[in-house]
This record gives sequence, C-alpha cells and structure tokens, in this order.
Amino acid sequence: MTAYENLTAHIAEYHDLLCILNTLKWDMRTMMPAAGAASRGRQLATLTKMAKSIFVSDETARLLDAAETEGAGVNPDSYQARALRQTREAYEIQRRIPADLVGRMAALGAESEAVWTQAREDSDFASFKPYLKQMLALNIELAEAIGYEDHPFDALVGQFEPGMTAARLERLFAELKAGILPLLERIVAVDEPLPVDLWEAEYDIATQKALCQELTAMIGFDFERGRLDIAPHPFEISFTRDDVRITTRYDANYLPMSLFAALHEAGHGIYEQNIAPELTRTALSADLVGQYAVGGASSGAHEFSSRLWENQIGRSREFWGRHFGRLQAAFPQQMSAVDAEFFYRAVNRVRPSLIRVEADEVTYNLHIMLRTEIEMALLDGAVSVADLPEIWNAKMQEYLGLTPPDDRRGVLQDVHWSFGGFGNFPTYTIGNIMAAQVLAAAHAQKPDLAAKLAEGDYQTLLEWLRENIYRHSRAYSTDELLTRVSGQGLNTAPLLDYLEEKYADLYGLN
Ligand code: ZN
Repeated sequence: MTAYENLTAHIAEYHDLLCILNTLKWDMRTMMPAAGAASRGRQLATLTKMAKSIFVSDETARLLDAAETEGAGVNPDSYQARALRQTREAYEIQRRIPADLVGRMAALGAESEAVWTQAREDSDFASFKPYLKQMLALNIELAEAIGYEDHPFDALVGQFEPGMTAARLERLFAELKAGILPLLERIVAVDEPLPVDLWEAEYDIATQKALCQELTAMIGFDFERGRLDIAPHPFEISFTRDDVRITTRYDANYLPMSLFAALHEAGHGIYEQNIAPELTRTALSADLVGQYAVGGASSGAHEFSSRLWENQIGRSREFWGRHFGRLQAAFPQQMSAVDAEFFYRAVNRVRPSLIRVEADEVTYNLHIMLRTEIEMALLDGAVSVADLPEIWNAKMQEYLGLTPPDDRRGVLQDVHWSFGGFGNFPTYTIGNIMAAQVLAAAHAQKPDLAAKLAEGDYQTLLEWLRENIYRHSRAYSTDELLTRVSGQGLNTAPLLDYLEEKYADLYGLN
C-alpha cells in the first residue's frame, strides 16, 4: 500500500465512527423516547471522545507526514492533494483546541440549553444571562485557540465557512441591505392580506405525508438511498451517500410547513446523494474540524442546495403552475376556491415578522444579519450580554420596523447561543447568495433550462448541479466552486436581481 492509501484507510475508520455518531443523533431527534436523553448524551460524549482521540493521534500525524512526503509532486489541484491539505489543516486546528475546553463547552451547553428552554417559555432573559455570559467567554477562548488575524469571529465562522471573515461579511451585508431594505419598503407599502386564508382549513396529515414523499422524489431525492421521517425540528443527516435521512414536521392547518421543510431538507439530501462515490469515507466527505460526517464545500454551500430547491424551484410560479393540480386532487375541498396563481402568492407573501424561522425570502437575510452583527459585537466587546435585549430590539426596529413585545419573541427565540454555536448564522445567508448565483450560472450555461423546469423536468438541473457542484463534495471551497461556474466568488448581485424580479412582479411594483 502507498502512504496515501494507508492514511485513507485510517481516515475511513474515523469516518465510520462519525457516521455511527450521526446514526445516534438521527435516532435521538426522531425516534428516541424522552427518557433516553441522559444515556444518549453519555453515549454521544463517549463516542465523540473516541473519534477525536483517533483523529488527533500520533498515528494520524505519522500517516499524514508520510503521505505528504510521498505526495509532494502530486498535482496540487487533485483530490489527493486537496484531501491532504484539508486533513493537515484540520489536524493542526484540532491539536490547538484543548480537550478540556471542548468538554467544558459540551457540559455548559447541555445545562444552558435546558435553562434557555425555560427562559424562553417564561420570556425571562435575566435567568439565561449568566449562561450566555459563560458561553461567550468559552467562545472567545475557542477563537483564541483556533487563531485569527483580525477578529475573533473569523476563527469561529471559519469552522463552518472556511476562509470567511467578519470584514468580508460586513461588506456582503452592506450590499444586501442596500438592495433589500428599499425593496421591502416598496412591498410593505402595497401589501394586503389575500382574500382567502388557506391556512384556516385542515389538511389531513397522511395526505400531506404522501405529498411530501412525492414532491421530494420528483425533484430528485432518491428513496432507494434515503428516508423521510418526522422530527419536531426538521433536519437532514447522512450515514454516507447511500443512506441519507431527511425529516419534516406536520401542522394540520399550516400546509406550507411540511411541504417546504421537506423540499428544504431534500435539497440537503440531494447534495449528499450526489457526491462522487470515490469520496465516500474520505476526508473530503467529513467536516474534520467539526468532527461531523457531512459532505459539501461548507455549511453555507450545503445551505445553497436546500434553499435552491426549497425557494427558487419550490416557491416558483412554474413549480406550482405544474403541480397545483396534484395539490388540488389531494385537498379538493380546501383548494376549491383558489388556483395555482393564488397558491403561488399565498406561499410567497412578504411580511416583516418577529420570528426568523417564519420569515419569507425577502426578510430572512435581515434576521441573519442582525444575529451575526450581534455576535461580532459580543466577541469584540462592543456590546455586553446585559445590553442584548435592547440591542436586539433596536436592530429589529431598524431592519424590520418591529419591536418584539417580549424577549421570547426577541432575543430568546433561537437555540443556537444556548449550546455554543457562534459563527453559524451567516451560513444561511451565504447559502442564499450562492443559490441565486449558481442558478443564474446554470441558466446561462443551459439556455433550455427554464423550459425544462417549466415542464417539470428537474433532472436536467440536478445533473448540471451534480457535475459542477455536488460530486466534488468538500474538495473545492465555496469561492472556488462559484468561480468555476460563474467566473467570480460570492457575489450578492444575482440574489438581489432574483428578489427584485420575483417580488416586483408579485407585488406589481413597476
Ligand atoms: Zn438547511
């Protein structure tokens, strides 16, 4: 065996452990009885520790050294060279993060999440404040351990989006705000409630389930290598490309909940299922810094696929023009008074709202910018934890013209800060930017794509995405993938063009 093959075999075993961890996590979030939480927590902690000790071991160092020496002349653009570079980088970062810091974060996270759950219910920021203070201190310690040049946020966001920085995000956000805020103002000035409220009716859950199955299969989620189940907080997780699990949740009244969560998670699942088979169980199909078996260039890049299929395809006029008949057949009474165009409008209505997870395509990124700006300011000391409710409410007023009546619907709404995860929020907006950019590139390279999509042919787009994006998994960065298909790195213009075109038409703004 070559030195590279030896390293690959070692990483493959590590990858198996990460996939077993994912299996335990999937079970925990879908099937496990609540009483299993404590023992499952211990099982996850034990296995995570075992996995980490394999990755940061002297054996990894020895195998990596040998493979690097052997591969010195390998084409730097090859998968092999890229896998070696990424393994080295993750190995160095993992060695810099003290094991006891990881342990302290996990222990505080478990406690803090429980406190947050109660604090949110009681709308009581004061009880959560001491935990958030400690969590912030640990995140600063983590940023120092990972290392950064300009801003501690750079180290944290880099865990999810390699190479991203606070400064670059601030530039991207300024561009987005300059486009989105005036568009939102024009929409709000003319928005009126629709004459029929579709979500007062009841929608049989079993029928919803069948529809979710049908729509996700139609856009290309492969049920021979995947499953769709129920989870209170929908997610996607994979145990290699051949076993990809997606979830959704059902509301008897609010039909869009199940449909769009299913399309969103199917978008994540389609990414995993279309990774090149030879990258299975390799460094290029795991997040080696986050110790998580997941493919895709980054968290933001993964989000590109979910948002593209959920929003740009799943919320398009063409999609419902094609499939509304099926919906009407499933719910003849509930849909009797409306047509495809009405349904399209009903699932694309823009309204500034307090809650991120209920936000539409126009306002969603404003929720993300608010959170990211607050995280940056917390990390560099510009604001303190005590000031958070006030800062949150001021930014909500500035971006969305709303003031939360209580902290439950304000600063306490997201789970992320309770268990640690600083630096993750901007990946959602990066996904939105990338989705618009990639779809614009696909249309430019395939002039018949619009006609295919209108005919309900999603295979053409899927094949293009597989060839240009999906199959490479983590081999290329977000910017590299985008440059290969569109000639430039992350660029906000296609997203702003997409929003302007879609919503100016929907609201008759021009
Ligand atoms: Zn997602």
